[in-house]
Amino acid sequence: MNADANSGREDLIARMLGPTGPELTCDECFAQLDRYVDLEAAGADADAAISGLRAHLEGCPACREDHESLLEYVRSERTD
Ligand SMILES: [Zn+2]
Repeated sequence: MNADANSGREDLIARMLGPTGPELTCDECFAQLDRYVDLEAAGADADAAISGLRAHLEGCPACREDHESLLEYVRSERTD
């Protein structure tokens, strides 16, 4: 809500620390999405591994669409 420079800095710190809270930005969501979908497709607990991403997907149609197409792609690549 403040200056862009400030939120950019917080974003950088968040990237360095990894996901810590329930709220992800779209950038953070996008950065984690590959790993999330890999875990999901493998039947692992993706929600536990990357906390907050599922909540973000539920509240963000754009990322949800990305997630769905990526999941579809990863599942089509996995033939087991
Ligand atoms: Zn988003």
